[in-house]
Amino acid sequence: MLQLKGIAAASGISIGPAHKLGKEDLVAQKEEIRQEDIPLQIQLFEEALIKTRREIIDLQKRIATDMGQEEAEIFDAHLLVLEDRMLIEEVISRLKREQVCVAYIFSEVLKKYIEVFSKIEDEYLKERIADINDVGKRILRNLLGKERKGLSDLKERVIVVAHDLSPSDTAAMHKQSVSAFITDIGGKTSHTAIMAKSLEIPAVVGLEEATTKIRPGDILIVDGGMGIVIINPDDETLRTYRQEEEKLKGITQRFLTAKDLSAVTLDGEVIEVNANIEFPDEVPSVKLHGGEGIGLYRTEFFYMNRKDLPTEEEHYQAYKYVAEEMKPYPVIIRTLDLGGDKFLSQFEIPREMQPFLGWRAIRFCLARPDIFKLQLRAILRASVHGNLRLMYPMISGIEEIRQANKILDEAKDELKEKGIPFDDDLQVGVMIEVPSAAMTADILAQEADFFSIGTNDLIQYSLAVDRANEKVAYLYEPAHPAVLRLIKNVIDSGHAANINVGMCGEMAGEASLALILLGLGLDEFSLPPQVIPELKYLIRAITMEQAKNIAEEALKLSTGQEVETYAQNKLREILK
Ligand code: PEP
Ligand code: MG
Repeated sequence: MLQLKGIAAASGISIGPAHKLGKEDLVAQKEEIRQEDIPLQIQLFEEALIKTRREIIDLQKRIATDMGQEEAEIFDAHLLVLEDRMLIEEVISRLKREQVCVAYIFSEVLKKYIEVFSKIEDEYLKERIADINDVGKRILRNLLGKERKGLSDLKERVIVVAHDLSPSDTAAMHKQSVSAFITDIGGKTSHTAIMAKSLEIPAVVGLEEATTKIRPGDILIVDGGMGIVIINPDDETLRTYRQEEEKLKGITQRFLTAKDLSAVTLDGEVIEVNANIEFPDEVPSVKLHGGEGIGLYRTEFFYMNRKDLPTEEEHYQAYKYVAEEMKPYPVIIRTLDLGGDKFLSQFEIPREMQPFLGWRAIRFCLARPDIFKLQLRAILRASVHGNLRLMYPMISGIEEIRQANKILDEAKDELKEKGIPFDDDLQVGVMIEVPSAAMTADILAQEADFFSIGTNDLIQYSLAVDRANEKVAYLYEPAHPAVLRLIKNVIDSGHAANINVGMCGEMAGEASLALILLGLGLDEFSLPPQVIPELKYLIRAITMEQAKNIAEEALKLSTGQEVETYAQNKLREILK
């Protein structure tokens, strides 16, 4: 029995045989061709590109239905690679010059591309390598007339073990045949991890030596919640995990019973449970999981994977749709949060040494009032169609709220001049995700209608831990006493000023920590739709009195680990 520790990417327990996904043998032989064969080779290349394009579009459609639009959009970047003029032209000119078969030329050009990109120290470009590699392999496979050995035709349910998984590999998995997957590399927020969550199968990534330590057919236990993989467990361990697996299944069923009930504590305190979305077409999933409103509508995705800027009308139509669908429930639209790990090609933003501390979110918007005001006008126009609110990301001081509100007033004046209706009382909130904002929440509360705590960033800034860096992932602790104290200060300051305080960071969806947040007085939780039933169930199983005691005790502890363990124990007690 051997245990490996990696990064927890998607929770759940799975037990089964290992299926190793090896490297694909895609070698193109160097074959010389005659001058007169060149047109035919070019035609072969064009056909391979067309076939690849068709494959990707089919895959996108399937993923959009099986997993959701967000996952499908990952493949937009692949379609862009297929349109890369430089790559295509280089293949054709080398083909003419060297007179060697197109499959070989293409594999050489691909290799060169990957080599060049790999040398550049840039996270964004590193992500692009994976895209180019994935789509390049597809093209090569089509040029060589090979089929990808599918994961889809597996006979028994297996646990997939791979060095890395491309989005295409992940997309080829079916829940019926793959019960979990584990990889040597990758971080918590990699594409692969996101897709595992949508497939609702357990996954552990960043295990480093999974492929060297595991042999095909080894029996594995994957504990996606803890980031643990056990190889060939002894009988005792196997028995324990089997029980745990059964228990988890039962618990999920139990949670689902609460999804359409209101989130009210045993002593009658009503809590708002909302959902985080990125695309309008996630609204049905929000309703299906019992979401009562939208606590965070991220709007960066309008700008991604396209060369032009979205128009005011595009913004307006999307916001109007979400507002109408969710009516009378609230929808909080977050204004553009570009930068950090979200780059957009249209803006030619200079690469920065520390993008998370650089020109991002509200800082960018205040510097580009043209882009900002266009979005604000669209939000205002859509506000007559439902219960819309807006909030600004990454506020670090009160001047930024004032400057943003000034632009909002200008947008209102422009609409008034044209006689276009909007809700003049539209609530304007502030995201608290920078320590300076958390510490001065009392000041900010004077000019905000509500707060929403963005813990994903607040944790990285307060603990000085890059949220996307797997090497320091062990320091990224939502339960750290510093984080709890900051949150408490924000809630207390908000309440002293009589405004609502919510949370839209991932922490709001962590059941054990939610107990503490409830006890600290959080008014609203906004989380991924799939987690809503669990949180509602939990809120309905506890009194405010109990939650307050839990929060009080948690605040006395000295480390994140102690808080985490304490909260887990309390959670177990409550769920019995
Ligand atoms: C956050 O920082 O907690 C948040 C919700 O925003 P994002 O994850 O989009 O940065
Ligand atoms: Mg954030």
